[in-house]
Amino acid sequence: MLLDGSYIDGTWRTSDGDSRFLITNPTDGSPLAELRASSLQQADEAVAAAERAFPSWAALPVSDRAVFLRRIHEELSARADEIAESVTREVGSTIGLSRGVQAGAAISKFAQYADITQATAFEERYGATPVLREPIGVVACITPWNFPLLQIAAKVAPALAAGCTLVLKPSELSPTNAQILAECIHAAELPAGVFNMVWGDGPTVGERLVEHPSVDMVSFTGSTGAGRRIGAVAAQMIKRTAMELGGKSAAILADDADFEQAIAGVLETCFVNTGQSCTAHSRMIVPTHRAAEAAEITRGLVETWTVGDPFDEATRMGPVISRDHWEKVQSYIALGESDPHTTTVVGGSGKPEGLGDGNFVRPTVFAGVQPNDRLAQEEVFGPVLSILTASDDDEAVAIANNSIYGLSGGVWSADQDRALSIARRMRTGTVEVNGGAFNGDAPFGGYKQSGLGREMGPHGLLEFLELKTLQV
Ligand code: NAD
Repeated sequence: MLLDGSYIDGTWRTSDGDSRFLITNPTDGSPLAELRASSLQQADEAVAAAERAFPSWAALPVSDRAVFLRRIHEELSARADEIAESVTREVGSTIGLSRGVQAGAAISKFAQYADITQATAFEERYGATPVLREPIGVVACITPWNFPLLQIAAKVAPALAAGCTLVLKPSELSPTNAQILAECIHAAELPAGVFNMVWGDGPTVGERLVEHPSVDMVSFTGSTGAGRRIGAVAAQMIKRTAMELGGKSAAILADDADFEQAIAGVLETCFVNTGQSCTAHSRMIVPTHRAAEAAEITRGLVETWTVGDPFDEATRMGPVISRDHWEKVQSYIALGESDPHTTTVVGGSGKPEGLGDGNFVRPTVFAGVQPNDRLAQEEVFGPVLSILTASDDDEAVAIANNSIYGLSGGVWSADQDRALSIARRMRTGTVEVNGGAFNGDAPFGGYKQSGLGREMGPHGLLEFLELKTLQV
């Protein structure tokens, strides 16, 4: 399949950039598609189209914008299976995860923001002074490959709801879901230029959007390294940025926790999507006197994680996305294996037996990891869990907070008050208390180098609005 369309000003244009990206099936290495990049000129045209479309889209009554969002939701819902299958094929996510999150949660954002925008007060008063919330303007949305449509929807839906126009540059590694979104938006007859989509890698097409003087805001999800670069470029124009970046989240197990339940929960967050999740709880901090027991329970539970074909309903873990990424994950496993104070609890380097040529990784757990080890400090983005020890809750909190990141985390205790007290002291954007479920209405984002701003729910809409005070 050749993906060679850029969506600009309400029409499909043949992408005419120089780069081509080969999309391969992570399960067996076979070629899936070729993606052609847009040219820098096409990126500029997309921005110009968004700029032209902005005044009338921003002026549209909120209820009319909500109608468009609901139409997009309907179009996407009709293609939900196709979206789920495309993400499983390109990313390697298990088909259940793809149906529920990669497609389901992503699609729901469009209906959710239709409701949220209608419930938002776009005008407040301070005494006699009206304060208006206005759309910020043209937004560049730049997104990663791991939960591709969910990350796109978490930007595109609130940006459109707020009255912004936009240019989307999805990840060049998992493109089909974004292609389907653009087709759905076209079918929903969104006015020309409100939504545009171009392709390319970060340093060329991505950076062109970031530095473009007509782009008012950059909403970025991706690695902290790319976020630093984008922030530096955007700062030249004091351009607003919203950043959802990397993580190295910690789960704290208090000494009274039910370890079977807690460790099963930690493994779920650490290994979901083959560890390719920004919120992975990839550090597990256990009381020193229960460390051996924790390792033993972990080993038993990990052995029940079946690795294999992500389309097989019985599989819990598919491959990682690419050969390059497999090599990166292996380099971290090798680090743990070569460190004299670290022991391999389960897993290890190489591929699991009998799975052929795919990018499969053995789910791996290391014990004895020290707080400043690279394994405890750097985002692996693969199914690798590090167990660390602490003598009490204070030390556990200090170890959890010893990170440049602060995206997510967890705490497990038989005493809910104690769990909440620990959670309050963790310097991170989200804490799952005793396995509390993800609430898509609540704000999501990072402390420290995990990001700037918040996505999801009403806070996600406010990111795209400016405040204007009318002194009357
Ligand atoms: P990445 O940073 O390599 O790429 C993300 C996107 O940014 C891609 O579209 C890429 O082309 C673009 N890009 C890269 N450099 C750029 C530049 N200089 N200018 C403009 N655009 C640029 O990240 P990835 O490998 O696609 O995704 C994995 C990373 O994303 C992990 O670090 C993960 O933690 C993070 N992530 C964070 C969240 C969150 O909500 N905090 C969610 C998902 C993923």
